[in-house]
Amino acid sequence: MHGLHASAQRLRIAALALGMMCLPACTASQPREEAPVQEEQTDTLPATLSLIFVGDLMQHQSQIDAAMRKEGFDYSASFRHVAQEIQKSDIAIGNLECAMGGKPYAGYPCFSAPDEFLHAIRDAGVDVLSTANNHCLDRGSKGGLRTIHLLDSLSIPHLGTYPDSARQAATHPLIIEKNGIKLALIAYTYATNGIKATPPFRVNYIDEKQIAQDIARAKSQQPDAIIALMHWGEEYHSLPSKAQKTLADKLFSQGVTHIIGSHPHVVQPIELRTDSAAATRRLLVYSLGNFISGMSANKTDGGLMVRMTLEKHRQKTTLKHADYSLVWTLRPAHNALKDYSLIPPSHIDSLQPSAQYLFRRFLKQARTLFEQHNTGIAEKEF
Ligand SMILES: [Zn+2]
Repeated sequence: MHGLHASAQRLRIAALALGMMCLPACTASQPREEAPVQEEQTDTLPATLSLIFVGDLMQHQSQIDAAMRKEGFDYSASFRHVAQEIQKSDIAIGNLECAMGGKPYAGYPCFSAPDEFLHAIRDAGVDVLSTANNHCLDRGSKGGLRTIHLLDSLSIPHLGTYPDSARQAATHPLIIEKNGIKLALIAYTYATNGIKATPPFRVNYIDEKQIAQDIARAKSQQPDAIIALMHWGEEYHSLPSKAQKTLADKLFSQGVTHIIGSHPHVVQPIELRTDSAAATRRLLVYSLGNFISGMSANKTDGGLMVRMTLEKHRQKTTLKHADYSLVWTLRPAHNALKDYSLIPPSHIDSLQPSAQYLFRRFLKQARTLFEQHNTGIAEKEF
């Protein structure tokens, strides 16, 4: 918002200077004409909202072990090198892919992460979390409910799972308003690993009829953008499935403005589409990949941070800018501090040789994929 404030100030100063310059020649009857000019200049200032999206926030046993201290858990290393970048955007949105189900803590296959993990995510600057993913019921509905209570206690807006249908109806779509721009967020998961919710607990599943109703409800609130967070696709596939592509097209045709996907644990291509009929651009991220996890298999050890800036001018909102960064997860085996830590490419030379090798392997594969399949969007290194 610094830029907007600065330009608003500049315009006001310009208007003032114009008035002053006019002063000697102006008669008492003239200021009436000047006033509307000043008003219009202020009125035409665009509002901007910057967003950043991060992928799966996972919690494997090896991460729990690495964070364990004599008293509690310390995850401060996890986001040390990316927090500043996250906080640069007005709103940061992530996918909380584990239950905060309390003790006993556990990694794969039924995650229950220490509460300190969520504290660290919040402290890193993540503002909004989706819980619509296949691990939300890893500790059953009781664990799902505890996750919601913890999110609420930390005042983190969230969407995807609900204590009951009343809360679901009241807070999905999730309306977020900042800088004069109103977003409607919707989120869905393909499944919950065969675990069923115990009523009244609710999970947003991918159900096209339900999604159509939710989009209609979102539209009734007249948001400036509708963003769908989709937990979908095939694990470890670097290209989107036919089902992802078909559903993405349907969501766009129904009025969704942008789609941010997760779940495959690897990055998938990004499309910045121009919708000439609506005179706007739509961002389609098929999979952000893992953000932080204990996974070490080829391509699962890194992920995407995707940024977009929305601009609202004379009641029309457009995607002004979008870019992405690649980040890699440093694991205890490759650093003296035995930490898990997200590393941006600018830090690569400070890593030990084995880590540099793995990071470069991740970057090379992701960049090759994106060169072949991305449209209309470029990488921004930090
Ligand atoms: Zn998943």
